[in-house]
Amino acid sequence: MNSNVIPTSPPRRSPNILITGTPGTGKTTTSEMVALAAGLEKVTVGDLVKERSLHDGYNEDFDTYWLNEDKVVDEMESMMAAGGICVDFHTCGFFPERWFDLVVVLRADTKNVYDRLEGRGYKANKINENVESEIMQVVLDEALESYQEDVMLVLDSNTVDDMETNVEKIAVFVERFREEHQHIQ
Ligand code: ADP
Repeated sequence: MNSNVIPTSPPRRSPNILITGTPGTGKTTTSEMVALAAGLEKVTVGDLVKERSLHDGYNEDFDTYWLNEDKVVDEMESMMAAGGICVDFHTCGFFPERWFDLVVVLRADTKNVYDRLEGRGYKANKINENVESEIMQVVLDEALESYQEDVMLVLDSNTVDDMETNVEKIAVFVERFREEHQHIQ
């Protein structure tokens, strides 16, 4: 077999979408709205990690689980094969590239990220780490390294208007994808 061959996505009638971004940029809210508007199944990876123990214990300092990436990928493989899934998570580089037809990176102003995470009751070190990460565009750089630019959408998520516009854009993508792939059995 030619080792240069890149594994292609299996054919699917309905797209898989990844919504990523620093915590507080609006992934959960946006993906809930996208799932409703476009008829996709929402998978919040953070919840899956907790519910199905896809981790290597708890990190007390940052109030979070140590992610076991291999377990997460194994757990999600069959659901992603079916298509029609909207995934939200704050890191994106460990997912197989072939899973996603659209990768959305949400961006928000520092003050908004700070206020949203403070409102959620995060500890100061966790707020600061995430604010810094948003300033340094860590998630955006990870997405750019992991996915082709032509499947990526980088969207501002500062206001409710932004959110509504973003949901509309993603829903239009889903509709077009389904029209173009309706012949697939
Ligand atoms: P994430 O999943 O990225 O951590 P959430 O979707 O939980 O972010 O959003 C955090 C908080 O910020 C929620 O209270 C949500 O309603 C609010 N929020 C998110 N995006 C926006 C936006 N574009 N405009 C106004 N409020 C927002």
